[in-house]
Amino acid sequence: MKPSKKNPLVIIILGPQGSGKGTQAKLLQKKFNLEYIGSGDLVRKRQKVNDLTGRKLLEVSAKKGKIIPTFLMSKLWADKFEKLKQKSEFNGFVFDGSPRKLIEATLVEEALNWYEWNKNVKIILIDISRKESIWRLTKRRICKDCGRVLPYMGEFRKLKKCDKCGGELITRTDDTVEGVKERLSWYKTDVMPVVNYYKKQGRLIKINGEQSIENVFKDILKAIR
Ligand SMILES: [Zn+2]
Repeated sequence: MKPSKKNPLVIIILGPQGSGKGTQAKLLQKKFNLEYIGSGDLVRKRQKVNDLTGRKLLEVSAKKGKIIPTFLMSKLWADKFEKLKQKSEFNGFVFDGSPRKLIEATLVEEALNWYEWNKNVKIILIDISRKESIWRLTKRRICKDCGRVLPYMGEFRKLKKCDKCGGELITRTDDTVEGVKERLSWYKTDVMPVVNYYKKQGRLIKINGEQSIENVFKDILKAIR
């Protein structure tokens, strides 16, 4: 069934860093004309407000690896959900990279029930091995000018300059093997329980992420139809 305001589609997309989940989230957003909810975007918007929370969020984003407290994340989501609820045209949304902790998964579940978006929820895990994650993350590049992150995959590998603004492409200083391993260990301790939570409920759709962007997308479409 085509997603609509009456029958909205909610896609939760999970995966380790380097799995390409951001890219797939954007493709799904476009395909079904969905809203996109990325925790990073919500936090960046909120930190522009000059109050205690705004200032603390700025500090937290400056220090990498610090996680936003759950009560705050849940407030940001609720505000966003409330706005979406008021939209006249709404087909659903893609939730990119969240929930990141078991407690967040529970809260998201409650919110989806509260806003009556629980009928058509798809939970997708883009699965790649640890080895592949490390390889992709240490090789990916970022645009010095606009901050666009280019995965070390497919067409992106061939680019010499940023495809959006023509800026210079560099590797990030924290994309060393050690830095990447640290971030992946966080995935294992915090996010894996979320993955297992959905798995136990029999709701997890596992997609092989070690393929081209196009084929990963094709597999997702097949799985959610
Ligand atoms: Zn750029």
